Amino acid sequence: MIRIESVTKRYPDGTVAVDRLSLDIPDRSITVLVGPSGCGKTTTLRMINRMVEPTEGSILLDGADIRQQPVNTLRRSMGYVIQNAGLFQHRTIVDNIATVPRLLGWSRQKARARAAELMERVGLDTALAKRYPYQLSGGQQQRVGVARALAADPPVLLMDEPFSAVDPVVRKGLQDELLRLQGELGKTIVFVTHDIDEAIKLGTMVAVLRTGGRLAQFAPPAELLSAPADPFVEDFLGADRGIRRLSFFPSDGLELRTEPLAGPGAGGGRSTAGDTPYLLATDADGRPLGWGTPDDLTADTPDPGRLLPYGRPFVPGTDSLRTALDGAVLSPTGWAVAVDAEGRALGVVSQQTIGEAIRAAHTAEAGPAAAEPETDTAEADTDTAEAAR
Ligand code: ADP
Ligand code: MG
Repeated sequence: MIRIESVTKRYPDGTVAVDRLSLDIPDRSITVLVGPSGCGKTTTLRMINRMVEPTEGSILLDGADIRQQPVNTLRRSMGYVIQNAGLFQHRTIVDNIATVPRLLGWSRQKARARAAELMERVGLDTALAKRYPYQLSGGQQQRVGVARALAADPPVLLMDEPFSAVDPVVRKGLQDELLRLQGELGKTIVFVTHDIDEAIKLGTMVAVLRTGGRLAQFAPPAELLSAPADPFVEDFLGADRGIRRLSFFPSDGLELRTEPLAGPGAGGGRSTAGDTPYLLATDADGRPLGWGTPDDLTADTPDPGRLLPYGRPFVPGTDSLRTALDGAVLSPTGWAVAVDAEGRALGVVSQQTIGEAIRAAHTAEAGPAAAEPETDTAEADTDTAEAAR
């Protein structure tokens, strides 16, 4: 564990970049430092590998003050990734990645073999090995930066806005890749960003800093969204907080209806199932095609022009209630379609049922007392549930 103990950094010109910051950064998870520009994120990160020394306070690594070991030993145990990757422009990709192993005295051959292995790990084609950084896209360069930081297999990875300079689509790919990689490697990652959505997506724990380098809140992402500590955090989280919070509620509890599923030619002679005005046409493999009335679905291949769109389907258990709700809102029928991993329709669920599941999730979170209120204290329990939100 990395323990930051009441650390203050005052630069020589008097700027207080970090003000009595205390944080316990857990092992083998991603801790995100997030906050507006100038709130002391980079300074904090650089104090962890001693590129900046605190004015007051101390930082402990596994219980020992980081000043007790030689600074080079400390830095070797901590990979460092920065915005724009910070690659050596005059070195090939493979030599960039092999930099630290070479410094550690590995043979050229062993270091290059390690570099090739890491290129695959971070999703880079090894055919790029002999290129120079300027011959790679921004996203590829960023992957090289991550590979280079991992080269000597350090237990800690410090990442300073590593994905901020790439476009949103590439950024999403890099974020997904980091989560996948972390699932395999289990590093202790301290990740700095000014993007709250990135923080919520990546962080196991998120530290929100405010200008002046003071900690506003340190909590798991779901808790930040449900209970922001103060108006600053609430404002920083931005709009749609309630909707975004649904990402943390699973969709596997939703009760799916299968009666409205209609395979090829299955519309003939059928009436719609109770409260669903339409049937969901599926192809021979069971994949959804669209919604239609029984009359629309008498042919083996329904006329696509007559079908209503089914929105974006969700995978129960994998996707969240947010995805399910999004699917229901996207379809003019108000129903979401659940599919398995192969895209075959499992059933459908209405906006109303999703709404009930959302309420149930809130109630369950508020505790058993609120879930099953006694008749005479029901009102008080409702208040408790409100307060807990
Ligand atoms: P962030 O990474 O959150 O944008 P920084 O840690 O880079 O913030 O900076 C925090 C504050 O410290 C800012 O006000 C910045 O201008 C100031 N600062 C950063 N580095 C120095 C320095 N070397 N000398 C003086 N002030 C600095
Ligand atoms: Mg910074």
